[in-house]
This record gives sequence, structure tokens and C-alpha cells, in this order.
Amino acid sequence: MVANNISIPNQLLPADGRFGSGPSLVRKSDLDALADLSESYMGTSHRQSPVKNMVGRLRDGLSELFGLPDDWEIILGNGGSTLFWDAATFSLISEKSHHLVFGEFSSKFATASRAAPHIGEPVVAEFEPGTGPLIEASGADTYAFTHNETSTGVSMDLHRPANTSPDEAIVLVDATSAAGGIVWDPANVDCYYFAPQKCFASDGGLWVAACSPAAVERINDIAGRNRWSPAGLDLKIALENSRKNQTYNTPALATIFLTVRQVEWMNNNGGLSWAANRSTISSDHIYNWAENHELAEPFVTDSSVRSPVVSTIDLSARVDADEVIAICRDNGILDIGGYRKLGRNQLRIATFPAIELSNVQALTASLDYVLETLL
Ligand SMILES: *Cc1c(COP(=O)(O)O)cnc(C)c1O
Repeated sequence: MVANNISIPNQLLPADGRFGSGPSLVRKSDLDALADLSESYMGTSHRQSPVKNMVGRLRDGLSELFGLPDDWEIILGNGGSTLFWDAATFSLISEKSHHLVFGEFSSKFATASRAAPHIGEPVVAEFEPGTGPLIEASGADTYAFTHNETSTGVSMDLHRPANTSPDEAIVLVDATSAAGGIVWDPANVDCYYFAPQKCFASDGGLWVAACSPAAVERINDIAGRNRWSPAGLDLKIALENSRKNQTYNTPALATIFLTVRQVEWMNNNGGLSWAANRSTISSDHIYNWAENHELAEPFVTDSSVRSPVVSTIDLSARVDADEVIAICRDNGILDIGGYRKLGRNQLRIATFPAIELSNVQALTASLDYVLETLL
């Protein structure tokens, strides 16, 4: 490949070039606020009130943002969403789970359940990458959905499988890249879990789970059965700590603070629908751009399942996406590569709520320039 020294004109470039799908843009104002607080918060005990109050603000702020009924609880712990999958095999799946697999992330939870020796063989329903999954009842005690499949840019509507009630079957939703950027209804879900380095513009390492009474009851029921669980994966221990605004072991205090900043920013500006609308407007801009560009088109053909938070755009074979991505990187536009394993000539662009529309518009103007120059 010939090295390309394309310099995108300054007036086209976005003021902030971070478009990665996770870790994603962290707002400078939040980092400045963290620096301002550093001496009374960073480097202080997570068992004392400054940190416990921050965890309390996180739990209260999320309950408000999601409009949770009073009997729901916010649980949190260390290890991100990937660790939560393993914890779920110990503390949420009773015997048999049913997974909808439509990309990399949804497949990883299915793999974790299949490998766990203490539960039964899961039902794994697979769907073509770029399409949405079908919710069907199978008699499983736990259904595992993914609100937004970050690897393909597909989001799904959340509802319970036909004729199932939370007394028999609970619905777990991996909302890692959706939480804070897509509206949802707690009536359709029992456990909505995520990590905050995507729509919540924070850093990685933490998992957070909004749990219905049925999910909490499942955790308590399994804990009463004497099923062995490593303490770090035991959600009963996480539940007891969360109720005291603590975590089982030491959390990253900066991650908690940055998440609180985002949650309160959303709540103070109109809540989840306001935040989701920011993402929708930005992603609409990208999909419209792709539909009108002769060298680009949205990867997800069914517009009803196109993600509002992660846009996947196929490029024509006349241009090499890797080259476009490399030129962008040289010009400060970062992390717009498609998911590697998908193996397509593709761009993947996050439009999380913290990413400004003006920067998304500057990104497409920059892409116009690069594509024109390459031809
Ligand atoms: C990023 C992501 C994960 C993994 O999150 P970690 O915090 O890195 O474990 C899981 N599921 C989805 C849908 C994601 O987007």
C-alpha cells in the first residue's frame, strides 16, 4: 500500500476527534471537575463518606435516569461487563439460559454460559451479523439479550418472550453500549447491566446492573442453594455491598466520579429521552450522509434495527477502509475502524450522547475530503 500523506484542511476537522465505540470520548469538563476534587476524593478510602456518597449519587442518579420503580436496585462491582457475564452464570442463571447471538458481544456471553459446568446447556439462537434477533420463548429460566450489538451496529427492541412472566423467566440485557443512549422500559427487563466507558463517557473497569425484584429474588434464591461461587463473582455479595454504597473490593474512584458527572448531566438536561435524542440526531446525520454518498452505505439494511449509538458504514470496494481509517488517524480522527472479526470494508462511528453533533458533521465533511482525494 502506498503511504498517503493526505492532510485534511483544518477548517473541516472536528474540534474533538474521538469517535471510538469504547473506550469513548470523555468530556474535558468532567476531567477538569475531577482534578478540582482530587484532594478530597481521589486517593481516599472507599469505605468513607466522600466515596460512599459518590456511589450513592451514582445509584440514585441512574434510578432517576432510567425511571426505575422504587423496588428496583442498582448493584455494582469491578470487572466490567465481561466479568458480569461470568457472575451471571453463578448468580442469575438458575439452570438454563437462552441467548440471542447477533454479533461478537452477544456470542461471548453465550460462550460463557456454555462453558460453565454448574448450569445446563444453553439455547443459543444465532442471527446474521447486521440483522436483528428474534425473541422466542423456549422454557429457559433466563433470557440474555443485547440492547445494542456494538460489533455490528444493530440495536433491538426489548420485550419479554411470549407468555413468560418474571416469576419463571428473567430477562437479562447487556446494555453496555446502549445504557444512557437508548430509551427502554423497565417493565420488559429484569436486569439491565453495562459498563460506563460508552454512553456514559467514563472509563472502564466497572459493571453496573439495574435489577428488578425478580432478579434480586433470583440472586437470593441461588445464594440459598449452596451453589459454590467465587466471591468476586457472587452477586449476593455485590448486592449486600451495593446497599451500603460500597463495592466488594476497591473500585476505580475516577470511573465512578466520571459516570456520576454524565448521569447528572443527562438528568439535569431532560433525562434519558434528551440524551437518546442527541444520539439519534447524530446517527441520522451519518446514515443520511452514507445513503447519499456514492462510496458509502449503511451496513445494516433494515433501518428499524440500525443503532442510534454506533453507526456501521460499508465503503465501496473502490476505496480501502483501512487506508481511510489510517489517514483519519494521522489527522487526529480516532478509532473509526469496523469490528475486526466482521472483516468488512467498514467504518464504525460512535454517536454516544457526549459526542457533539457539530463534531459528527465535521467528521463527515472530513470523510468527504479524504474519499474525494483518494479517488
Ligand atoms: C464493550 C462491550 C462489552 C464489554 O465491556 P467490558 O467492560 O470491556 O467488559 C460487552 N458488551 C457490549 C455490548 C459491549 O459493547
